[in-house]
Amino acid sequence: MGVMVVGSVAFDSIRTPYGEAEDILGGSATYFSVAASWFAPVRVVAVVGEDFEDRHLQVFQSRAIDTAGIERAPGRTFRWRGEYSQDMNEARTLETQLNVFEQFQPKIPPSHASTEFLFLGNIHPALQLHVRRQLPGATLVAADSMNFWIVKTPRELAQTLKAVDVLIINEGEAKMLSGRQNLRQAARAIQAMGPRKLVVKRGEYGVALFNDGDAFSAPAFLLDEFKDPTGAGDTFAGGFMGHLARSKDLSDANMRRAVVYGSVMASFAVEDFGLRRLLALTAEDIESRVHQFIRLTHFDV
Ligand code: AMP
Repeated sequence: MGVMVVGSVAFDSIRTPYGEAEDILGGSATYFSVAASWFAPVRVVAVVGEDFEDRHLQVFQSRAIDTAGIERAPGRTFRWRGEYSQDMNEARTLETQLNVFEQFQPKIPPSHASTEFLFLGNIHPALQLHVRRQLPGATLVAADSMNFWIVKTPRELAQTLKAVDVLIINEGEAKMLSGRQNLRQAARAIQAMGPRKLVVKRGEYGVALFNDGDAFSAPAFLLDEFKDPTGAGDTFAGGFMGHLARSKDLSDANMRRAVVYGSVMASFAVEDFGLRRLLALTAEDIESRVHQFIRLTHFDV
């Protein structure tokens, strides 16, 4: 049952034109799991160091996220430092300290074997495949990736792509992976590599979904406040997978709905630094923004 995520749990230091934050809780698995926890039971598999305190674990527990798969290893937790210029679509990485993440070997607790919806965060594709193979009965498996793996580990990535149902990547990465500049052609080429469903994140321009033969495009929600884009992609994935896990419906119409839930969750994440806004939400906030989203995109002919 529920959703499981494998990825990074991190301490992030972030600077944007709207402020800065030092050593705040972040990481792909963190953003994903907090977002998905608004929809379905969530399990997180990750590694942290000795500097990871109970108060950090309590953030997960405050959202009823199962932390049995968070391993504590000797050393320091993964740290990432990045900044955004006025164009907040692209983070500039200033520093990456892999620390305990360097030796990460995801261990799936036996209690997680019944997971139906699996999200493989942006880690080495061979590790993604290793985890995927441990959950052969999963209903839907989605993966993230990035230019680093596309360039450095193309063969391993090709193997992983054959074993996943959904790939969720940025537009630039989709073009790099496929070698095509036209998004529709890029999508067809990537679907031929394995994942029948492709979600392309386009930053402030929204998200495109290629679901077998169906194509859907959603804008990003139009916000008054936009402070920190960190984690937007993983938060999108959390809302997307969380909605699918809650509804257990993989129809074309519901995949489109999942894109809207993902976009809505990402729109909340970027309104404030780190997890602050995602942790302060109510279920009504989410539904109300989904309805604003419908109004934003509706037109008559
Ligand atoms: P996003 O903005 O959705 O791409 O994700 C940002 C999150 O990714 C931050 O919270 C970082 O801690 C995490 N992150 C940054 N670099 C890496 C990396 N090389 N591996 C895993 N996670 C990373």
